[in-house]
Amino acid sequence: MRVMEEGALDLFEEIGALKAELNAVILAHYYQEPDIQDMADFIGDSLALAQQAQRTDADVIVFCGVHFMAETAKILNPGKTVILPDLEAGCSLADSCPPGPFKEFIERHPGHAVVSYVNTSAAVKALSDIICTSSNAEKVIATIPEDVPIIFGPDRHLGRYIAEKTGREMVLWPGTCMVHIQFSEKKIRQLKVRYPGAEVLAHPECEERVLRLADHIGSTSSLLRRVTESPARTFIVATEPGIIHQMQKAAPDKTFIRAPGEGPACEACSECPHMRRNTLEKLRDCMRDLSPEIEIEEDLRLRALRPIERMLEVG
Ligand code: SF4
Repeated sequence: MRVMEEGALDLFEEIGALKAELNAVILAHYYQEPDIQDMADFIGDSLALAQQAQRTDADVIVFCGVHFMAETAKILNPGKTVILPDLEAGCSLADSCPPGPFKEFIERHPGHAVVSYVNTSAAVKALSDIICTSSNAEKVIATIPEDVPIIFGPDRHLGRYIAEKTGREMVLWPGTCMVHIQFSEKKIRQLKVRYPGAEVLAHPECEERVLRLADHIGSTSSLLRRVTESPARTFIVATEPGIIHQMQKAAPDKTFIRAPGEGPACEACSECPHMRRNTLEKLRDCMRDLSPEIEIEEDLRLRALRPIERMLEVG
């Protein structure tokens, strides 16, 4: 059981009052720290949060996640104020795909449909035909005619996994997520021996050698569903450990073990340093100051909007 500090209780009250005053909605990704998840109106993965941002009637969207997520919310809601607790909350995967080199990559592969993962900047989305998340990637790929070759970016592990699942040939941009590539195949094997019967749950951004050990592979929403649907009592979780907060709520009698990384044993090594820049204090401050706010130039917004809308039409 988590013990709530007095200061945290004050912050909860302040944030609650600001939310009512601003007519704000707080959206939080599963990788946020537990206090932020508990303060949110809606918690979800990238797809669910984009869908929620599309349908909200709040005046202010407070996005507790990383920059590309808040940017996607702004692209969908140009008339609303979109703020996030820390403007520096970026993403190693989005950073691995700068728009200039990605444009050259596309030009080197004429005739390909360009499918980009949502973990990209607005400028990369604007170069894409359609966006996907790890929840809907297979459905998105199915909308592309069989005879059209595909460029997939920026995550090469997700791309390889989806190519294998769909049987489609894809040219992959060589990006990776700093969190999901650090899990240790050797240490997960050791945990499987120590906890016989434990299921390994893995996000498809993990390396192939880790995915080969997994009993269930899927988006964060899918991993969360699995803990209630599976008869297993113990789970080794190979994704950002913020998700374990919701897993414990969904299945309080089950045991969740963070998959270890390659480095020396470290509680924080699988925590996303970008996601974890957001804190309860910064959440309060950004609502109090209505800053930092996401701004996007209208021409770029419109070019990035169409491939996002195509994704949302697929669901
Ligand atoms: S976990 Fe990886 S993909 Fe997700 S925000 Fe962090 S760096 Fe980006």
